[in-house]
Order: sequence, then C-alpha cells, then structure tokens
Amino acid sequence: MLSSEALTLGRRGLFAGGAVAVGALATEALEAEVTAATLRGPLPRKVDVVVVGGGIAGLVTAERIARRGRSVLVVEARTRVGGRVLNHTLRTGGTIESGGAFIGPTQTHIKALADRLGVGTFKEYVAGKNVYVSSNPLLGRQEFTGTVPPDPLILLDAALALAQLDKLAAEVPVDAPWAHPKAAEWDAMTLRQWIDRNTLNSRGIDNLIKAWTQPGFGADPDQLSLLYVLHYIACSGNERNVGTFARNSDVVNGAQESRFVGGSQRVPLLLARKLGDRVALGAAVTKIEHVSGRALVHTTRGRVSARRVVVAAPPKQVLGIDFSPGMPAARRTLLTKVQMGRLMKCDAVYDKPFWREDGLTGFGLSDHGAVRVAFDNGVRNTGHGILLAFVGGSTWRQYGSLSRTERRTAVLQGFAAMFGDKALRPIEYTEHDWTHERWTRGGPVAIYPPGVMATYGRQIRRPFGRVHWAGTETSTYWTGYMDGAVRSGERAAVEVLERL
Ligand SMILES: Cc1cc2nc3c(=O)[nH]c(=O)nc-3n(C[C@H](O)[C@H](O)[C@H](O)COP(=O)(O)OP(=O)(O)OC[C@H]3O[C@@H](n4cnc5c(N)ncnc54)[C@H](O)[C@@H]3O)c2cc1C
Repeated sequence: MLSSEALTLGRRGLFAGGAVAVGALATEALEAEVTAATLRGPLPRKVDVVVVGGGIAGLVTAERIARRGRSVLVVEARTRVGGRVLNHTLRTGGTIESGGAFIGPTQTHIKALADRLGVGTFKEYVAGKNVYVSSNPLLGRQEFTGTVPPDPLILLDAALALAQLDKLAAEVPVDAPWAHPKAAEWDAMTLRQWIDRNTLNSRGIDNLIKAWTQPGFGADPDQLSLLYVLHYIACSGNERNVGTFARNSDVVNGAQESRFVGGSQRVPLLLARKLGDRVALGAAVTKIEHVSGRALVHTTRGRVSARRVVVAAPPKQVLGIDFSPGMPAARRTLLTKVQMGRLMKCDAVYDKPFWREDGLTGFGLSDHGAVRVAFDNGVRNTGHGILLAFVGGSTWRQYGSLSRTERRTAVLQGFAAMFGDKALRPIEYTEHDWTHERWTRGGPVAIYPPGVMATYGRQIRRPFGRVHWAGTETSTYWTGYMDGAVRSGERAAVEVLERL
C-alpha cells in the first residue's frame, strides 16, 4: 500500500521544471503511458486531499496541491483522464476533438497551462467568406463577412439585441449574479421571452441565436434563464476585459479563435503524466462521509481518508454521490434543477478542404436542418479538409435519435447546402454524442433554466464541511469552458491549502 508520504510531491520534484518536452507522442501512445503510470494497486489509506474527477479542473487542483508538498489523490470514474476533453484519432489520419477544443482571447489560464505543458496552439482558418443558409426562399444561400448574416429581416434587430445583451451583462457581477438588483426579474424569464419582448422579428432572431446557444449551451433560448445567459456573457472576459457576446461567439477575436496542436486532451494527459500514481482511474466515488474530523471517500476501488476533498465532477454527477451527512438542501436543489445541455459533434473528412478553394472559410450558419453551425475543423499535417457540425438543443432532439446513417445523411446535406455537393462525399465521417457518456451525460455545460440562479446559484462554490467544489461550472470567468475549468481548479486548490 502506498503511504501518504509516497504520494507527496516535493517542490523540487516533477513540477520544478518549466515547459515539459512534449515530443511527438500520438494520443494513443501518450494515453497508454499515462495509464501505465497511474496508481494500479490499492488506494492509499490516508492523504491530505482527495480530488474527485480527473478532468482539467481536478487535475489542475491536484497539481497545485502536490506542488505545495501535500499528498493528494485524484479518483477518476473513467478509465481515462480529460472528462469533457477527449481526442479522437481519425482513421484517415490526424487528431480532432470530440469535446472541448477551441480557445480564444482572455482565456489566459488554459493558455498559460498549455504553454507550460508544451502544447502549442494554431489559429482557426478564417480566410474568405462565411455562408448563411436561410429557409426564406428569397434569401436562400448567401456568402458574407463578419458575424451577423446579411438577412435584412434580422440585421438591425440582431445588432440592437446583441448590444443590449452586452450592456445588461456588463452590470452582472461574475462572482455573484444573484446579487444584481434585477436578478429575480431576469431569472424569471427565458432568453426567448426576452427576445420576444425586445425585437421586431423575434422568430428570426431566435433562429439566429440558436446557432449560438445550441453549440454553446447544448440548448435553445427557451430553455435558458436570461440571468444565466447574461452571466455567461459577463464571464466571457477576464479581470481586465469586460465580457462580451462577440468574444464568446466569434472566431476572430473570440472563443473559437484557436485550437491545440495534437488535440486538447494533451493538456489533461500531460498533467496526469506529471501526477503519475497520484491518479487512480476506474475509481468512481460512491459516498463521502464526514467521520472523526476527516472525510472518508468511498470509491469502486476502495476507501481513502482525507483532510479535505475537492469534488470536480460535473454538477449532475455529484447527485450520484451519497453524502453523509447529506448535502445542504439548497445545494441539492441547485444540482437537481440545473440540466446538462444536449450536444453532439459531427465531423466529415474530405480529401482536401475544397471550400477554401472556393474562397470560403468553412464557417457556416443555417436557420434549419441538422447543421445550424459549421466550422472548418482541419488539422495540421494531413492535407485533408474537415467540416465540423455542432448538433445541440432542439436540433439534437430532432436528429440525435435518428440512426447514425440517417443522421450522417442529414449532416452531409447540411454541409452541402453551405459548401456545395462535394460535401456529400467525405472519406470519413465520425460523431460523438455526449448524452451517452455515463460520467458526463450531456454537454458542453450544466445550464440554468429560469428560477434557479437567483435563488440557489450562491451554493455553487460554497464548501460543505470538508468538501470543496471545482469544475468549470464553478468558475467566475469562462464558466463552461476549459479556461473556467483551470481557473476553478486553481481557486479550489488555494481554498483547501489554506485549510490544511
Ligand atoms: C461537445 C463539447 C464541446 C466543447 N467545446 C468547448 C470548446 O470548444 N472550448 C472550451 O473551452 N470548452 C468546450 N467544452 C467544454 C469543456 O470541455 C469543459 O468546460 C471542460 O472540459 C470541463 O472540465 P471539468 O474538469 O470542469 O469537468 P469534466 O471534464 O467533466 O471532468 C469531470 C470528471 O469527473 C469525473 N467524474 C464524474 N463523476 C465522478 C465520480 N462519481 N467519481 C469520480 N469521478 C467522477 C468524470 O469522469 C470527469 O472525468 C466543450 C464540451 C463539450 C462536451
């Protein structure tokens, strides 16, 4: 059995260096190396801190604690690390992401972490025009530059609505949206209701905004509390830059600006490699007991006693853990009422990125069909072209239950409506539905319907006994994103280190 000392990492240990040499290890090789280095035998009897969940948030928490010389163990339910960040190696070559992928300006915490781990970034392809496909036969397919499609029926409305959302969001405190004087009023309505009241062509705007909410939340405007959406926009910045809708939604100067060389999962994999046998895979936490001034964490691989516990699992997954004594009622209510978004990513691979030859960026919007938003998802070094569709919210409800073959056809038709018939003939097609993932059950984030954030939102980071909370949903900036996950881990580590 490993002692807590064996799990303690000195300041001059693995973490002392600067950037780690990444080498050219493919995801599979890196994952095999990481898995082999994780704790294989029995769990230690005692550690200073148990971290529940080996996503980015949990691994960052553990690394920070280990760097301070404290013993820590990450217990992860899956047999891999990364959680909502997962690389996918294409049969035709190259690595894409099934989950979190893009980063952008002001997401400085994930960028700094990736830099330190030696994971580079590259910019999304943006040369050329975007495409908008309207169901209005008078408009049909249009090419455009900028962010708002050239639909005369929505242009003015969209400009005014987005400016108004930014203005309201700028008033919302990122760390306490429930404290805003209008919190209850804003939380009583959905984004859709706000659009209905504040735009002339509300149907058109709703359709346009869906192209943002379906990938961004895995939901439609009628499922989202206005207060929550304003908070999300407010969070799309940092301590020096007020959050804006554009920074959240855009490619250029926005959250979709860059991706990681070799795929985003390299970040959690390299973190886990540093942690080595401080990570136990296949160890799902079933119960956390407060016993004799310590926390006893029960997992499917045995029990560990800790002075503090950081739970970095997605909010809904926390409900699957039996707490003794039970979680405060308000926190349980919060976790019961938030919902995971519904989202899948569908990618089609082509011999070459033919749309680029046609002067198109590969970014497309549509107000109908399986592909409401498309991105050029090309990776370096293969020469192939890759188109990515996010299928989320009501579009997921419509297409997610089809057979794979039917959905593939619908997705390719959606790409073809944007980029031409060549899109119907990919050399590979792949998709990933996060609602099927046992330890996530949706994505990209836990969303707030009306009536939750103003009343129960303040529970999100409030420690309970020896239990503290991390995870992107607990972040004040870039909540819902990889950057938010890093920030939450950094904050949770400080919180427990102060109490050890
Ligand atoms: C399709 C999709 C696209 C996305 N796109 C982007 C993007 O482009 N850019 C971006 O920044 N973000 C994106 N995100 C969001 C991003 O992936 C997440 O914000 C981030 O990865 C969350 O990290 P986390 O550590 O907070 O949670 P998670 O990654 O969910 O990690 C939580 C971990 O806890 C584990 N766990 C759960 N229950 C238990 C238990 N009982 N015991 C032990 N372990 C448990 C899980 O297995 C998991 O590994 C996307 C997400 C999805 C799904």
